[in-house]
Amino acid sequence: MSSVKKVALITGANRGIGLETARQLGRRGITVLLGARELAKGEAAAASLKKDGIDARAVKLDVAAPADYIAAAKLIEKDFGRLDILVNNAGILIDARTGNETSTTSAEVLRKTFDTNFFAVVALTQTLLPLIRKSEAGRIVNLSSILASNTLHATKGSPIYDAKHLAYDASKTALNSFTIHLAHELRDTKIKVNSADPGWVKTDMGGEGAQLEIEEGGKTSVELATLPDDGPTGGYFHLGKPQPW
Ligand code: NAP
Repeated sequence: MSSVKKVALITGANRGIGLETARQLGRRGITVLLGARELAKGEAAAASLKKDGIDARAVKLDVAAPADYIAAAKLIEKDFGRLDILVNNAGILIDARTGNETSTTSAEVLRKTFDTNFFAVVALTQTLLPLIRKSEAGRIVNLSSILASNTLHATKGSPIYDAKHLAYDASKTALNSFTIHLAHELRDTKIKVNSADPGWVKTDMGGEGAQLEIEEGGKTSVELATLPDDGPTGGYFHLGKPQPW
């Protein structure tokens, strides 16, 4: 193994699970680049990690703005020459919280959700893939959700049977397809691509009533970002356990 420090880019890392993932990766000695659509918020988050001795840096990165991720790729190329870990963490849930019905979900909500949760992830990953190919052991983690599981949505009595948000759920199911397809294309390389279900986590998105504390919520992403060479690829996991697609 090389003694050179690994470099990770985490999108949406100024708060929530993304910031926690950066913290936990940083504690393992990995240089963490905190993607944030508002640079000032990313810089504040990076400063909070630096206080703990973590090698953290903010990168302006609105995943819906191609110019931002092209600039991020150039910066990473110039300063590191490669990218070891990409955590596609930024995501939105804008389906109505109450009275949410599939039959009235608007095209606008569907499009906005897919723009951030699916199209942006594909485009950003495609842009960064040449840099990830230069890593000794590239790892790509796509932040999915238990709500991506068509199997559980279709199973009466499952924990998510009555938790239907068409735009969010379908965007994460599509993201899982991206994981499977990209892992297949990269099956003969050292790059591993997996979907993470972080669990129901106490963040702005998850809400106060969520089951998991933030520390627990970062663990699945970190596990998949630091998989050993004989680890899985093309999978969908929560804390090491495969989830039904
Ligand atoms: P969160 O607290 O709402 O944080 C979301 C993060 O994504 C923020 O940093 C936000 O930035 C960023 N973001 C949103 N749109 C962006 C864009 N266009 N460009 C760049 N950054 C953007 O959510 P979270 O709970 O930490 O969720 C993180 C990921 O885990 C998401 O993909 C989510 O779907 C997934 N997840 C969460 C849970 C849960 O229970 N919390 C469960 C399953 C899956 P701003 O601060 O600028 O808005």
